[in-house]
Amino acid sequence: MTTSDNELWEKCLAKLKKEISNENYLTWFVPISFHSQTEKELTLTVPNTFYKDCLQQNYLELITSTLRSLTTLPINIAFQLESKPLSLPQEKIKEKDSQHKVEKISIVSCASINPKYKFENFVVGSSNQFAHAAALSVTNNPKVTYNPLFVYGGVGLGKTHLLHAMGNAIIANNPQTRVRYLSAESFTVDLIESLKHDDMQNFRKRYRPLDVLFVDDIQFLAGKNRTQEEFFYTFNALYESHKQLILSSDSYPKDLQNIEERLRSRFESGLVADIEPPDLETKIAIIYKKGEEHNKIIPQELASFIANNIKTNIRELEGLLLRVIAYASFTNRDIDLKLAQEVLREFIYDRNKNFNIATIMTATASYFEIKIADLKSKKRSRQISIPRQIAMYLCREHTKLSLPDIGRHFGGKDHTTVIFAHKKFTRLINENNELKNSVKIIIENIESGKTLRNTSKKSE
Ligand code: ADP
Ligand code: MG
Repeated sequence: MTTSDNELWEKCLAKLKKEISNENYLTWFVPISFHSQTEKELTLTVPNTFYKDCLQQNYLELITSTLRSLTTLPINIAFQLESKPLSLPQEKIKEKDSQHKVEKISIVSCASINPKYKFENFVVGSSNQFAHAAALSVTNNPKVTYNPLFVYGGVGLGKTHLLHAMGNAIIANNPQTRVRYLSAESFTVDLIESLKHDDMQNFRKRYRPLDVLFVDDIQFLAGKNRTQEEFFYTFNALYESHKQLILSSDSYPKDLQNIEERLRSRFESGLVADIEPPDLETKIAIIYKKGEEHNKIIPQELASFIANNIKTNIRELEGLLLRVIAYASFTNRDIDLKLAQEVLREFIYDRNKNFNIATIMTATASYFEIKIADLKSKKRSRQISIPRQIAMYLCREHTKLSLPDIGRHFGGKDHTTVIFAHKKFTRLINENNELKNSVKIIIENIESGKTLRNTSKKSE
C-alpha cells in the first residue's frame, strides 16, 4: 500500500539532524521533500540529478540505516526528480477531513506547480524584464489582460521558473482557482493514453473545467498532428469560456516548425514575450540569489568567475554553483574563488576543449564558404579578411595560443594584427546582431564537435 503519511520520514529527518552538521543538513536535507511510502520503499523528491547523485554517493547509507533503526520494515530509499510532474498520492487527494477543505483545494489545484519557483526568487534583469512584467500582469488579472500569454526563449533561461511562479502566485491570490501546469510532452502522453483506453470524455473533463492552463515547451507538439488537433480544441474551449492560457516555447510562434498555422496564429493572438540570454550583471545577481537560497554568502569574485564562464544557460550556472557549495561543505572549506577554480576546472576548461587552430579554421571557412587556404593567405578582400579576423578573434578567446603563434598560423601575420582583430570583433559582436549570430553559430559548431569530426575526416 502506498501512503502519503510522512511520519517515518519526519522521524528519520529529526534523527539525521542530530548526526550531521547543520550546514550539511541545510544544504542536503532541507531541499528534499517526502513523496510517498510503501512497505518496501520510501520515495523522496529531490531538486535535480546533481542532488540525487550526491545524496546517493554520500548519504544513502546513512539515510537507510537511520530509517531502518526506526522501523522493522525492510525499507529502501528511492529518489525522484522534482521536474517530473508530481503525481500526488491518491490518498492525499481523497483526504476526507473537511477542516482541510481550503487547503485541499489548493493541494489539488497546484498538483503540478512546483512551490520552489516563485516571483520572489526570480531575478529580473533587462533580458527578462518584459516577460516578467507580462507574467505579473496576467497573474494579477488572469483572463483580463492577455490571453494567451506566450513566453519564448532559449534553454535554461527561466521560462519554466516564470510559469511556476505565476501558478504559485495565482493560487496564493485565490486558492480556489483550478490551475493545471504540464509540459506539452505530458499533454501528448495524456492524450495517447486516453485514446488508447477510449477515454476521451475523461480527457476533456480534465482540461475543460480549468481556470488556468499552463503548457510548457509547446514546441514538443511539432509534427504531432493528432495532439495538435486536440490541443486546438482544448485551447478554443478554454479561450471561449474566458479561461487563461499560458504557454512557453523555445521560439517565436511564427518560427515554430511543423505546427499547424491555425495554432501558430492563436499563439500570437495574445501577448508574446521573450526571455533573452542574461547579461553579466543578471547572471551575477542570480548567483547571489541561489547562494541565499542555500544560506550561503557568495563572494563577489566567485560570482563573477562563474558568470563569466557560463555563457547563457542559467541551469548550468546554478549547477556549477551547487557543485562549489557541495564541495565546500564536504571538505569543510570556505566558499571562495580558489576553491571554485579547483572544483570547476574541468567544467570550465571543458567548454573550450574542441577549440584549436584546425577546428576554428574549418568552422569559420565552412560557415563563410571560403577555403582554409584563404584564411592563411594575404588576400585583403572583405569576403576573406572578415572571416580571417573572426577566426583570429576565436583563437584569442578560446585557445591558449600566444598572439605571435596565432599570427603565425594565419600566414605569418604580426601579433599586432591579431590584437587589432580581437579588439575590433569584441566591439562589433556587441554592436551587430547579424555578426553576433554568425559567430555564435561558428562557436556552436565547434562546441558540438561537428567541426572536429569534419577535420578528423579530412585528415584521415
Ligand atoms: P527553461 O525552462 O527556460 O529551460 P528554467 O526555468 O528551467 O529554464 O530555468 C533553469 C534554472 O535557472 C532554474 O533552476 C531556474 O530557477 C533558474 N533561473 C532561470 N532564470 C532565473 C532568474 N531570472 N532568476 C533566478 N533563477 C533563474
Ligand atoms: Mg523549461
